Amino acid sequence: MLENAEPNESHRIIAQIENELKDRFQLITQNVDNLHRRAGNKRLFEIHGNYREIKCSASCREIRPIPTELKGKELTEDLTQEEINVLKCPNCGAWMRANILWFDEYYDERTYKIDSSLKVAKNTGVLFVIRTSGATNLPIQIAQTTIQYGGYVVDINLENNSFSDYLSTKKNKLILRGKSIEFSPKIKQLIKNCVEQCV
Ligand SMILES: [Zn+2]
Repeated sequence: MLENAEPNESHRIIAQIENELKDRFQLITQNVDNLHRRAGNKRLFEIHGNYREIKCSASCREIRPIPTELKGKELTEDLTQEEINVLKCPNCGAWMRANILWFDEYYDERTYKIDSSLKVAKNTGVLFVIRTSGATNLPIQIAQTTIQYGGYVVDINLENNSFSDYLSTKKNKLILRGKSIEFSPKIKQLIKNCVEQCV
């Protein structure tokens, strides 16, 4: 299913915004579907991982792309010997696993960029929170950090969520309710205008 998914208009607009802002833009995403990369985003922190990557399930934690030898399978199909070979860690021989944050696992820096994303949050002037409910702790921590260091948070979601609970008593916030695609073209245009005026 993920292989057949394609980046949509919202993905493309976010990639265009990065293209305008270059190093003044960073994207922190909970998506593991690789679509932001495919849309062209490069300054990217995938805090829940990326399904196109695997890592060692033991301690050496090497992260690498899914081997090309590995093909989609039905649940009842067995792995071939070649597939088993590419799914063993070349360093320690343990099984490789998806580089995705699973339930009951903790955020760390090497895989999930906890320190880097909080550093981005600290240094950001405007944090756009788009289409996420804040069901895990790091996204909420990111919004709290931006506010604590004097930045603004724009919460764009269909409904109230953990972010709006936190932001309700804060001054530096803007709450927008609707689909991201209703706002993102306008945001892109505003950013483009700003960038042109600054040149
Ligand atoms: Zn290993």
